[in-house]
Amino acid sequence: MTTDVWLDAFTTEDYRARMSRAVDAAVRAGLDGVIVAPGPDLVWLTGYQPTAITERLTALILLAGQPATLVVPALERPDAEAAAGAPALRIVDWADGSDPYRAAAAHLPPDGRLGISDSTWSLHLLGLLNTVPDTRYDALSPALPMLRAVKDANELARLAAAGAAADAAYREIGDLRFTGRRESDVAADLAHLLRQFGHEQVDFTVVGSGPNGANPHHEAGGRTIQAGDAVVLDFGGLMNGYGSDTTRTVCVGEPSAEIQRVHDVVRAAQQAAFDAVRPGVPCAEIDRVARAVITEAGYGDRFIHRTGHGIGVTTHEPPYLVEGEKQPLEPGMCFSIEPGVYLPGRFGVRIEDIVTVTEDGGYRLNNTDHGLRVVR
Ligand code: ZN
Ligand code: ZN
Ligand code: ZN
Repeated sequence: MTTDVWLDAFTTEDYRARMSRAVDAAVRAGLDGVIVAPGPDLVWLTGYQPTAITERLTALILLAGQPATLVVPALERPDAEAAAGAPALRIVDWADGSDPYRAAAAHLPPDGRLGISDSTWSLHLLGLLNTVPDTRYDALSPALPMLRAVKDANELARLAAAGAAADAAYREIGDLRFTGRRESDVAADLAHLLRQFGHEQVDFTVVGSGPNGANPHHEAGGRTIQAGDAVVLDFGGLMNGYGSDTTRTVCVGEPSAEIQRVHDVVRAAQQAAFDAVRPGVPCAEIDRVARAVITEAGYGDRFIHRTGHGIGVTTHEPPYLVEGEKQPLEPGMCFSIEPGVYLPGRFGVRIEDIVTVTEDGGYRLNNTDHGLRVVR
């Protein structure tokens, strides 16, 4: 499988349309507009990500009937002007030694109601509150990040390419030696493979061997992998700006009967949840379907996290497949389905694919085999 696909760049019109949807979402929430800090919302709305997110104020100001205004530190102006969405922006800067909140306030209503993005630092919100004391601020969550939930064809192509690259990394990692090597060595191999297959950014490389696999977010560490270990491999990052996130659990040598049994249960849960995906089904229902299979097998209390999360310009975002989430699935949504069973002190098993919703049901963006793979 090739991971090289031709991807069109996002256009100025794409960014304009996204920003106008953000204004509409703010207005629907009874607000005059929204202030967006560096983070996934800013990347999606403008294509701009400061090279480092620092204490210097960067803020996108979106107000109904006003041009989109990006306030940036003067020294970062050239970076902002180079952003893909820059033609759709009025860029204003402030110099070190001046008051960044005054610079922003010049473009804010004196007594408005504004939404703020999830990634806004409290430091900056306090600065704005002090400078424009009659303006009220509200979170625009989850409405703002949910604008990103349904992907267009270009975004789906990027997510598919990232998924295929992660699959290629998984196929190769299983051919390498596990026994006698440290988790951190395998994690470094995974990171290298992700980059080799096209990722520009590696976000996580979980290698949870033996008892470490019982911690879903275990940081790969110094443990030496041994024959008989189940090893949870959960890895992903960004490729062409869009995320991958896949998990397979492998076994070093022939699996014990219990590892095989738990793996069969998790595999059945993952499949059942996938089979339940179709437009209109609430997110919570996918979680319930996966959980029912695991509970039926007697491991319900060992499935200690939600079933999945959205993915796009970041590797964890709404919608969440979790009890209580009524959001109906819509064609074009992309999320993980990742049930797991964790037996403290012993081992863990998780299987994770990124899935997108089509009119006819789910479609996997990860397609490596779900069988319990034996590695050496
Ligand atoms: Zn996670
Ligand atoms: Zn994962
Ligand atoms: Zn995940």
